[in-house]
Amino acid sequence: PAAPVEATRVTPMMEQYLEIKAANPGLLLFYRMGDFYELFFEDAEIASRALGITLTKRGKHQGADIPMCGVPVERSDDYLHRLIAAGHRVAVCEQTEDPSAARKRGNKSVVRRDVVRLVTPGTLTEDTLLDAKANNYLLALARAQASSGGDRFALAWIDISTAEFMVTECGAGELGATLARINPNEVIVSDALHGDPDLRALLRELPSVTPLTRDVFDSATAERRLCDYFAVATMDGLSAMSRLEATAAAAAVTYIDRTQISQRPPLSPPSREASGSTMAVDPATRANLELTRTLAGERRGSLLDAIDLTMTAAGSRLLAQRLAAPLTDTTAITRRLDAVAAFTSDSPARDDIRTILRTAPDMSRALARLSVGRGGPRDLAGLRDGMLAAGQALARLEEFSDPPADIAAAMQSLRRPSCDLARELGDALSESLPLMKREGGFVREGYERALDEARKLRDDSRLVVAAMQARYAEETGVKTLKIRHNNVLGYFVEVTAQHGDRLMSAPLNATFIHRQTLAGQVRFTTSELGEIEARIANAGDRALGLELEIFDRLAEMAIQNGEELRNAAHAFAQLDVAASLAKLAIDENYTRPDVDNSLSFAVEGGRHPVVEQALKRAGHPFIANACDLSPIPSQTSGQIWLLTGPNMAGKSTFLRQNALIALMAQTGSFVPARRARIGIIDRLFSRVGAADDLARGRSTFMVEMVETAIILNQASERALVILDEIGRGTATFDGLSIAWATIEHLHEANKCRGLFATHYHELTALSAKLPRLFNATVRVKEWHGEVVFLHEVLPGAADRSYGIQVAKLAGLPPSVIARAKSVLAKLEAQDRGSTVRTLVDDLPLFAVPARAADESAPPSETVQLIEALKSLHPDEMSPREALEALYALKAKL
Ligand code: ADP
Repeated sequence: PAAPVEATRVTPMMEQYLEIKAANPGLLLFYRMGDFYELFFEDAEIASRALGITLTKRGKHQGADIPMCGVPVERSDDYLHRLIAAGHRVAVCEQTEDPSAARKRGNKSVVRRDVVRLVTPGTLTEDTLLDAKANNYLLALARAQASSGGDRFALAWIDISTAEFMVTECGAGELGATLARINPNEVIVSDALHGDPDLRALLRELPSVTPLTRDVFDSATAERRLCDYFAVATMDGLSAMSRLEATAAAAAVTYIDRTQISQRPPLSPPSREASGSTMAVDPATRANLELTRTLAGERRGSLLDAIDLTMTAAGSRLLAQRLAAPLTDTTAITRRLDAVAAFTSDSPARDDIRTILRTAPDMSRALARLSVGRGGPRDLAGLRDGMLAAGQALARLEEFSDPPADIAAAMQSLRRPSCDLARELGDALSESLPLMKREGGFVREGYERALDEARKLRDDSRLVVAAMQARYAEETGVKTLKIRHNNVLGYFVEVTAQHGDRLMSAPLNATFIHRQTLAGQVRFTTSELGEIEARIANAGDRALGLELEIFDRLAEMAIQNGEELRNAAHAFAQLDVAASLAKLAIDENYTRPDVDNSLSFAVEGGRHPVVEQALKRAGHPFIANACDLSPIPSQTSGQIWLLTGPNMAGKSTFLRQNALIALMAQTGSFVPARRARIGIIDRLFSRVGAADDLARGRSTFMVEMVETAIILNQASERALVILDEIGRGTATFDGLSIAWATIEHLHEANKCRGLFATHYHELTALSAKLPRLFNATVRVKEWHGEVVFLHEVLPGAADRSYGIQVAKLAGLPPSVIARAKSVLAKLEAQDRGSTVRTLVDDLPLFAVPARAADESAPPSETVQLIEALKSLHPDEMSPREALEALYALKAKL
């Protein structure tokens, strides 16, 4: 394209800047100038605002001042971190030649510069930019539009800081749950997907979505790009992927290539996750159960926080990963439980391993930094210490007479890392290490002769300078004569002004060449000093050069051993998780769950892991409760529990604790219960009536109904459904009717296990008709007109709701309480309950609609309704519009 007219008037440097800027759209450009990264124009304005740094100007462009701000290179990590956290992406542009080289080319020529790296949220390696306890995933999402049935999606996710690389496929229905589980920091999609209205709501929930051109998601070239990245001829040996998965995987590596530019971080071959191998838990359920974050968004107070006793960052990451993806395969779960059990029964082994782990550094992240040329001496030391710890851990584990499979596998991995590398690093590295390799001084004396010699020369020369100063002082008779150094003159002789003339006259002027006269001092150089100067500089450069060579050699050696080191790091993380869960089980008195392929769910003495800890800190006991959802009903069980009881009695706590016990069991952890038997749950749903979602312009009730619809449509026999106060957000009879129909549907159509807490005591009458529905209530006692919460869950129904007593506890004015009591008395006289009881007798039982046969030709009203529904976009409607649409739809009936 032709340059704009004004371009002729811009300075050569600005020209270079604008060219580089144009090649990196959508990114802030960090443009290296000496010791600073400078930002110009709009970038400068954005960065100065985001970082709170001063905005200045530099020169003019098209007649206007150019806004500028800068960050010092030394502290750029900190600024990068803040920009990334604020949702920006940054292109780092370095000088790629020495400024003197540019000067040699000509007066006007600009130092060559190139973008060496794009810093984006999903492609970080620096410790300072990463959360030690969380994985940092880049995720590529690809779609295949199926002609029949729903779309298929493939997800490929990579943590370049640990080399993990995973792929999986899922249907549109599971996409939300899968994304929520992986919890990526950056998502890349094709332009087409990005613009798809069906996905807009979903993508909006994700952090940092980057749309890319179609070629990145081209399935025809996917395999070739993957082979190229892994430098293999065919992917067959690496991993078996579907075409769609390969497309997503190729997009991810292509993006990594684009962001890392000259470096290719090593990745493990993509590991394929079979669909259905983990328990599906959708985003709303995750949020509700406060798995990794509380509803307020904090880690503190979440399940993860309560159960994370790991010693290492890598262990903490693995635990978070496992908790996000509970398994559905009993064999795999049993293996994990066996490892935890081994450490619960052998306390000394557990404590020793945890002590050793405390010293184990984050090897996989150190290795990743070394691989992309961003590592420092301390990363090498990390590997050295890691290997040392591996040896110690192995020795301790060998004391197990018959280690369970997972521990045996970890031992196998710990045995592997190269002894040569460990020895070499041990020999090479000094006691105290600088942060950056270019600071030098990290190689131990005696490791390499040439380096020792260069250092000696450098240090000796410094002594020579000291001797020269003494000699010059004597020769000139100026006792205060000093030899100093600066960047302009190099080494020079300095005397006070009064002695200047003396050195400038014969015979001394033959030796001392006058250079500079300052206010109080006069400066001279000598040819002798010039020679020393060169010698010192050379020796220093040579020493540093040799050190850097040694660094590269050691880093290369580490990279060669990368796979073994990463395996050892993973073994550490596994041991850490097993040992920490064992410690948790002992400290908190947890028990090993029985996990099998039945449909049973029997918890005795169950507790809520987070509430229990909180109460314990406050000195209060937690009341344990049983829950039996066995399909064959008995006096104390039923597949669906209908839980009634006043507010604050402990209904939500009970519901959640049972979901958490199941989830922990399938994660491979011991559980807060006296006994627990869990038949595999493939999908967990939890809904709480009342979570407002005004931010999205949907009313509470609408959200609740949409979520309930998903459950009723998707829950299979293997699901566990937790519903808390469904139907509360509307008029009493509407709500009661919806809750009624929902329970019938779960009982008759879904046939899943479930817990249903409700205010509608009338519903308890349903158990007369639904054989697997079981009524339970949380006990309270009335004492001198006050309610006392006993938190005990027992068979039966609550007789009343004690709402007024709870309101009194909350401090409502006595006059309001008195008035409420008299209104209640009137209402109770009408006895809504008896109407409902007659309904149970009169209404025919819920009929599961027959599917399949009549689906081929739906009646025309149905077609019309479907069309009308399709044209609605709930996300774009206000609650009022939604209501109107609902009326319009109803009118069509
Ligand atoms: P509800 O859902 O019935 O309104 P919650 O489950 O929110 O009641 O419980 C209210 C409070 O009661 C909790 O914050 C907790 O402190 C306490 N609580 C609940 N269950 C128990 C229990 N089993 N043992 C001891 N305290 C409990």
